[in-house]
This record gives sequence, C-alpha cells and structure tokens, in this order.
Amino acid sequence: MIKQNLEAIRQRIDAYARACNRDPHSIELVAVSKRKDSSLIRQAYDSGQHIFGENYLQEAAEKIPHLPAEARWHFIGHLQSNKAKQAVALFDVIETVDRLKLATLIDKHARALGRKIGILLQVNIGREPQKAGVLPEDAESLLREINSSTQLGVLGLMVIPPWAPDPEASRPFFQATRELALNLAAKQLFSDNTRVALSMGMSADYHIAIEEGATLIRIGTALFGARDANKEK
Ligand SMILES: *Cc1c(COP(=O)(O)O)cnc(C)c1O
Repeated sequence: MIKQNLEAIRQRIDAYARACNRDPHSIELVAVSKRKDSSLIRQAYDSGQHIFGENYLQEAAEKIPHLPAEARWHFIGHLQSNKAKQAVALFDVIETVDRLKLATLIDKHARALGRKIGILLQVNIGREPQKAGVLPEDAESLLREINSSTQLGVLGLMVIPPWAPDPEASRPFFQATRELALNLAAKQLFSDNTRVALSMGMSADYHIAIEEGATLIRIGTALFGARDANKEK
C-alpha cells in the first residue's frame, strides 16, 4: 500500500513538475509521519523515501531510533523554546523557526553537540491570529538577526496557508511566499541565495504548490492514509 502510494505521488510530482517546466529533482518529498508508527515509516523507507516530517517531539523521540540512521528528519510542528535542545538532538532540519529566541537556542544547542542544523522560517502568510509564524513584513529583520548564528543553515521559508475546501485558494498564498523569498534572496539573507527552499503544499494542494515553486512538499494523508482522529491533538 505505502509503496504504491509513494510511487503514485512520485509520478504526480514528476508530471506536475514537467508540466510547468521544472526539474522534478528540484522538488523533495517530506513524508509526514505524525501519528503513524515506525513499522509504516519503515515501509516507506524501504520503498525509497528517506525524508520524514514529524510534529511532536515525544512521539518522534520514540520512533526515530527504530529507523535507519540514514533517514532525514524534519521538524514541522510548533517548537517550544524549552524543547529546542531535544529537537536539535533528533532533527536535521527545523522548519518552524519563527522567533529569534528559538533560533538562538537551536544555534546554542547545535554548537554544544557539534551539529549543523538546517532551518526554515515559518511565515504566517495568511496573517491568521491563531497560527504560528513570523509575519511577512517581519521576516527580513528576523533573518538579519539570525544570520550571526554559526550552526544554522538558513535554507528558506515554510508556510501553511489558511485552510479552505478548495485547494486553489492556497495559490495566492504560495505566490506571495515565493515573492517574499525572492525578495529576501535578493538581499542575500539565506545560506544559499541561488537555491532557496520553499516548503509549501500538503496532500490536498501540492500540485498547486509545485506550480508556484515549492521545493519541499509535506505529504501525510496521501501517503500513509488518514490519521486516527482520536490521536490528533
Ligand atoms: C500534518 C501536516 C502535514 C501533512 O498534511 P496532509 O494533509 O496529511 O498531507 C503537512 N504539514 C504540516 C505542518 C502538518 O502539520
């Protein structure tokens, strides 16, 4: 099941990328494995999927040791500052950095562990009061402050657009994210300004995200099936 789902998703990524003249290799799939146990994750790994996204630290800490050390882990949930140390020990990339204090702590713990950590700035692109993320107009100053961190690779931006039944509703938010990233890259604010990561698009709207320039798409349901609603926070 997982293997077939993975193949179908990869084929779609390929087709969507080609349809808009993008190199399919410029798009990485992050398999969102929250609330899925390590045996399912292992099936995905054995089918060639090596990047996984997790939302909850405790859950990730229990599962990650059961997967091959070659697997790459992206943290995509809300990260409390007092959990930065644990996140640095477990994850390769933290996609949800949205404040200086958190970036500073990740940097400090990464230095203590002799690690380099990739980060993305989570931007609250829909300006939703209940949602995490730096506001678009504050991204530049935050990036300037983070730039003195020695252990952080500032890879790009991550967004979760407002929920809407029609995936097309995500398009303007993806476009705004790309424009913001181009603007910030022109000011040399990322670690590699020629290759800025854009983490956007989930199961319902990743085809649109690809058309609008996504380089990381985060897919859970379409790969692993629906999550148990009772287990959702
Ligand atoms: C759960 C989650 C996803 C995956 O969502 P699906 O709709 O299951 O593909 C992607 N990104 C974030 C931040 C998530 O929390």
